[in-house]
Amino acid sequence: MNSSSLTTPGSASRLPAAAQPPVPVTIARGDGIGPEIMDAVLRILDRAGARIAPEEIQVGEKVYRAGRTSGIGEEAWASLRRTRVALKAPITTPSGSGYKSLNVTLRKTLGLYANVRPCVSYAPFVPSPFTGLDVVIVRENEEDTYAGIEHRQTDEVYQCLKLITRPGCERICRYAFDYARRHGRRKVTCMVKDNIMKLTDGLFRQVFLETAAHYPEIQTEVMIIDIGTALLATEPLRFDVVVAPNLYGDIISDVAAQCAGSIGLAGSANIGEQCAMFEAVHGSAPDIAGRGIANPSGLLEAAGLMLVHIGQADVANRIRNAWLRTLEDGLATADIFRDPSRQTKVGTAQFADAVIARLGQEPRHLPRAAAGAAAPAPAAVAPAAVPPPAAPTPKTLPEKILEGVDLFLHWSPARRDAAQLATRVQAALPAPLKLKMITNRGVMVWPEGRPETFCTDHWRCRVLATGEHPMRPRHIAEALLALEAHHLDVVKTENLYRFNGQPGYSLGQGE
Ligand code: NAD
Repeated sequence: MNSSSLTTPGSASRLPAAAQPPVPVTIARGDGIGPEIMDAVLRILDRAGARIAPEEIQVGEKVYRAGRTSGIGEEAWASLRRTRVALKAPITTPSGSGYKSLNVTLRKTLGLYANVRPCVSYAPFVPSPFTGLDVVIVRENEEDTYAGIEHRQTDEVYQCLKLITRPGCERICRYAFDYARRHGRRKVTCMVKDNIMKLTDGLFRQVFLETAAHYPEIQTEVMIIDIGTALLATEPLRFDVVVAPNLYGDIISDVAAQCAGSIGLAGSANIGEQCAMFEAVHGSAPDIAGRGIANPSGLLEAAGLMLVHIGQADVANRIRNAWLRTLEDGLATADIFRDPSRQTKVGTAQFADAVIARLGQEPRHLPRAAAGAAAPAPAAVAPAAVPPPAAPTPKTLPEKILEGVDLFLHWSPARRDAAQLATRVQAALPAPLKLKMITNRGVMVWPEGRPETFCTDHWRCRVLATGEHPMRPRHIAEALLALEAHHLDVVKTENLYRFNGQPGYSLGQGE
């Protein structure tokens, strides 16, 4: 299968569906309940006539135990690169700092930048306080604090880098608006915390608004993530498509899935320009593994998203309609079994049998899946509706001027007196450098400060060049040598630039 058939769902071939060769799909059975629910799902796909050629790979616990800290080996990578589409059951991430999260590795290595999670309620058949809930969370999947760049800097302080890039924001915002347009959705809400993170989340908001201008028919709104999450949990029907940076997106997609009734019902798609990976939202549920009681619905929903992605919406809808009818008929695995007068409790395999028995039937009450649309599936990345910005050339690059440096010091005397540190730093700094301010955890403690401020052993000293002398990179090196000579421990430096005259760093209070 080539990438163009992936990027244009349904266009794999003009041959009648039955004559199309089966699409190779990488299958990972995962850990815990993974193998049980994958068996059930593959059985349903087979009986529904999915035209796929499964190719199994081994990832997760067994691979970790065999000594691969990434949880995935070369053969599995080769299959993923070959098929470019994967259906993956949940895996167990071993605890301990030696192991990398396989999910994060897969998403980042394969460039799966969009995580799309449709959350739909099936009340009254699956109890949910929100009848009619139908919201899609589009989460940026590669950046933010998930870059995994963390450091211990002092005895007391640890840091995690939050990286937000303009191309990353552009891709995810464009994806969210394209998704809304393709699926006839009316509104896209952006959730950020740009009242605090003015540069990183501010960039996300700015790009969201720039992108929105290309989709005039779609309503837009921006919410601060805290009130946005609260509203999503209490009034989810006011939302349609929500787009957010990685960490917030991770949290709100669980909130939305839970509002829909059960996390066990939701599937998700990880979409990239070359590859796509589909999985249930839930984890490997080790507490019920091997008991044959797990709900296969989340993985089945993910398989439906995959079928739409590879151009088999007809099969996806057939399965989804049978599944909706199964829910309406009261067949329920333990996690969604609430009402013995109306529901019959069944195990994983029986639930799959019930779906298979209803293939060809349609729901009587819940909205029917309609070809290409009603299964709320993300189409694969379509050609961008907004032309991607031209690659920066030397002419279009902003003017970037170095004007200072933040020096982070590890300093922990018995009495943490910022004025004393300022005196020592000032005495050490060579001309033309001058100490502008000191902050502790971002709060100014010198030249102005308040005695109530709690200080850790981690001090940011903002240093600028004075007078007519422009700041040069060598001044930073000279400052480091001078501070070392004065027995001051610099644990990190961060250059301060102006881009086209605008500060490319957060300002301290009073600046
Ligand atoms: P979990 O989702 O596995 O389980 C939470 C609760 O929901 C448990 O009580 C479980 O029994 C129940 N549950 C989950 N899926 C169910 C289903 N299909 N049917 C019925 N009940 C279900 O979350 P957890 O316990 O926090 O994580 C367990 C493991 O899964 C961890 O190792 C975690 O790292 C991993 N995990 C993997 C993925 C993934 O591979 N995409 C996602 C999340 C968690």
